[in-house]
Amino acid sequence: MIRLLKTLLSILVLSQLMLSQTASMHSIDETDLDRKVDPCSDFYEFSNGTWRSSHPIPSTMVRWSKRWESGETTKDKLKEVLEAAQQNKTAAKGSTEQIIGDYYGACMDESRVDARGIEPLKKWFAAIDAVKDNGGLQPVMADLHDVLIGTPFNLSGSTDPHKPSWVLADLGASGYSLPDRDYYLKPDARFKEARDKYVEHVTKMFALIGWDQKSAAAGAQTVMSMESKFAEASLDTVSLRDPSATDHNTTFAQLHTLAPHFDWEDYFNHNQLAQDVDLNVDQPKYMQEFDRQLQQTSLADWKVYFKWQVLNSSAEALSTPIVEEDFAFFGKYLRGQAEMKPRWKRCVESTDQLLGEALGKKYTEKYFPPEAKARAQEMVRNILFAMRDDILSRPWMSDETKERAMAKIATFHPKIGYPDKWKDYSKVDIRRDAFFEDYLASRHFVVEDDHATIGRAVDRGRWGMTPPTSNAYYNPLWNEIVFPAGILQPPGFDINAVDAVNYGSIGVVIGHEISHGFDDQGAQYDYLGRLRNWWTDNDLKQFQQRGACVVNQFDNYFIEPGVHHNGKLVLGESIGDLGGAKVAYLAFQKSLGGKPRPADVDGFTPEQQFFIAWGQWRGDAIRIEEQRVMMQSDPHPIGKYRVIGPLSNLPEFQQAFSCKADAVMVRPADKRCEVW
Ligand SMILES: [Zn+2]
Repeated sequence: MIRLLKTLLSILVLSQLMLSQTASMHSIDETDLDRKVDPCSDFYEFSNGTWRSSHPIPSTMVRWSKRWESGETTKDKLKEVLEAAQQNKTAAKGSTEQIIGDYYGACMDESRVDARGIEPLKKWFAAIDAVKDNGGLQPVMADLHDVLIGTPFNLSGSTDPHKPSWVLADLGASGYSLPDRDYYLKPDARFKEARDKYVEHVTKMFALIGWDQKSAAAGAQTVMSMESKFAEASLDTVSLRDPSATDHNTTFAQLHTLAPHFDWEDYFNHNQLAQDVDLNVDQPKYMQEFDRQLQQTSLADWKVYFKWQVLNSSAEALSTPIVEEDFAFFGKYLRGQAEMKPRWKRCVESTDQLLGEALGKKYTEKYFPPEAKARAQEMVRNILFAMRDDILSRPWMSDETKERAMAKIATFHPKIGYPDKWKDYSKVDIRRDAFFEDYLASRHFVVEDDHATIGRAVDRGRWGMTPPTSNAYYNPLWNEIVFPAGILQPPGFDINAVDAVNYGSIGVVIGHEISHGFDDQGAQYDYLGRLRNWWTDNDLKQFQQRGACVVNQFDNYFIEPGVHHNGKLVLGESIGDLGGAKVAYLAFQKSLGGKPRPADVDGFTPEQQFFIAWGQWRGDAIRIEEQRVMMQSDPHPIGKYRVIGPLSNLPEFQQAFSCKADAVMVRPADKRCEVW
């Protein structure tokens, strides 16, 4: 281990010298700044206020910034790729071109989709109607699970947290449709309103598939009542952040005892699972509630519930009135999106979601140059090195814990751009004239591809995001950080931008993902991805105290009276932002060594450019409705606090802008948080 560590570190040292820049490279965009605002008072406003006021959120979006703009521009490129594939009449059946081209073409054939109306649902509804008693629900559920309608529980392959080289079968809770359980349970006026609107929406949807008004209204009440029971039995979002809360190794016999009224033998057979497969049940109490409903809820109500799940889950692939009503509730009412995206964009997004690596392969061939990959790899190495330095310099951490942290740094595995090995889609039957069936066939592929991993050694080549995605992630079980091609492009990452800008935007994202390895969740996994405590008691206590500071900081951020961040929910992301900004800054500082100092830009020093780049990358405008949903259910803070929150803790920021000790952007010494 130590030798491996030394080799890794020597590679890191070498790569420090490799980032270079020339005078022709561009820096921050000064025209985005709002210079009327003091950077020490409101850095969010200062860094990108003018951009936001001159770029209102488009009617089809709920969030907007240069980053979101770039994500939407990617869809223009994906459209080109898909249109070219669609026009290729000679593509062989099962080839990538045929699959993505015909999927997109079928999706774009709106008149055919509309003409079919609700006919595609009939087969599914007939199967539900044919069930004779609650015991007979199992085969229908298994068929629904096959096409990604995983309700009221779902089955997936999941890395064993005690043996991370192995994939076990995981049963998860998924019985409700609103964004969070509080929507069903809390008495607050806004949740009550959401419940009323949801019941209205379900009523309208049932009416749209031909139910009379009375049945539609009664059906909606049934859905609300059953989903509320499932919500009540589900863990809340904060509890779900604790990996041990969902860690329940379960034998087949124990599963039987948890939910004896479900035909598990048959369900396992259907899914080709041996009864001695390694199995985890995320929420045993939830499975007991499922069993209780199997006994107590009438068959008629179960049928309504499943018909709703089919309709709700596949609404986007049905005719225009259904698509529009689905949007009116989930898009417009819940999230504040004024208008639906154009059909072509929805079809691009659908192809990306369901056939992501087929589309992603074509996309990266055209739009992800090898030099971008090399440069990104270099930045990741430099920032990992900075994280190592940073951890080693923590005065509160013992050498014993530091050594284990170093082992974890040494096994970090970065993935950049796209997978080395692509998924094989050749067996997915996609036809130009049957969009709904294409949609389900693609969803079936997603399920099969996942279930095929169960009961086998982990394939670490797999990706959890598609290549065009403008996002990144950390997976603690594989100790890997993953940066799809979609995020490695301007404005986040630009091979023609100065280091201050690249380190201040994508660098902070890289630092953020690395810091996830040492946040409230990530820190519970060791260098092999095992859920196992590697901390001394005292160091763990120190770490948790530092986390409590961040919890307190974010608890105090609000968007309107009574709607504030839940510090415990956003803790991991906020540790990621705070640690990420710091280590990216350290790596940036280091990159300046041994070279002529880069020029100021419009009076801004390289250090100031770094922080401005961060403010311009993270500081997005978000519709108030979307902010409310995020406050409730999203582990990420809103953009404004992702800028103000971490930077107001950083002495490096205070220094760069010469902020006074009592400035708003400088938290008082006794409240200043520092984790890494
Ligand atoms: Zn994150």
